Amino acid sequence: MRCERCKGCMIRDSFVDLRDDTGRVLFEGWRCINCGEVVDPVVLTHRIDVPTKPYRGQTRDRRTWERLTAV
Ligand SMILES: [Zn+2]
Repeated sequence: MRCERCKGCMIRDSFVDLRDDTGRVLFEGWRCINCGEVVDPVVLTHRIDVPTKPYRGQTRDRRTWERLTAV
């Protein structure tokens, strides 16, 4: 898998995340060994489910956030 940010190599990795009131959640995702970009299953699901919304990625998509603020 290629990083969409820097086109670097991404590897499978495990992450511990904090989710609302459910406490700690362990999930598997992808991490770029070059720039540290993280793509998790939640982000991927959002990209697939809401392609027609005004903006993509919503809360967890750091790339979209950076793109908007860079303009
Ligand atoms: Zn990268």
